[in-house]
Amino acid sequence: MFKRAINGFITTCKGLALTVRHLFASTEKREVIHVSDDNYFKQLDHGTNTIQYPKQSLPVPEVGRYQLDVEIDDCIVCDLCAKICPVDCITIESIKSTEPGGIGQTSDGTTKRLYAAQFDIDMAKCMYCGLCTIVCPTECIIMTNTYDKTVFELNHLVYEFSDMSAEEAAEKRALLEKQQAEKQAAKLAAMNKKEEGK
Ligand code: SF4
Ligand code: SF4
Repeated sequence: MFKRAINGFITTCKGLALTVRHLFASTEKREVIHVSDDNYFKQLDHGTNTIQYPKQSLPVPEVGRYQLDVEIDDCIVCDLCAKICPVDCITIESIKSTEPGGIGQTSDGTTKRLYAAQFDIDMAKCMYCGLCTIVCPTECIIMTNTYDKTVFELNHLVYEFSDMSAEEAAEKRALLEKQQAEKQAAKLAAMNKKEEGK
């Protein structure tokens, strides 16, 4: 019993010593240093490991994968990103332009021929593989260094990048349908004329 009491006393002292050590160590604030710094992990050995977020924030690695962003003006709506996405979290609806010369150019000079009536990315489903950013021919879909995009509703994680209104999209669809109907009618008329000439 005497031995147990001694052991209990020693254990209590050890526990208290640990508590006191952490109590004083916690007054040392963690410095915000870059992850590539040699001291990045050494600094975790002492002091508090928390920082004064959001006043302070930790730098993120250059190759880090966080929230996606799309520069829609540079998107040619080729759908490659949606096709390669392993979890189908990119939804694109394209509308072909009726303008023969296209609807403009991207910043790298590629001619745009399709409107993006819908360009949604569901970040709640995204697995941050980065494949969409690799296949994009105009490099307009990128991983940003934004990691603290908190939302209260899950559906708010569906980011909408299309800059077309529903009315504009309906107008473009109607124009395309009209053009296609006219082409079809002209084709039929040409075929009928050919038949009559036989
Ligand atoms: S990062 Fe991967 S999972 Fe996320 S949208 Fe791009 S391809 Fe899909
Ligand atoms: S791969 Fe790039 S250009 Fe093609 S639809 Fe996706 S974001 Fe737009």
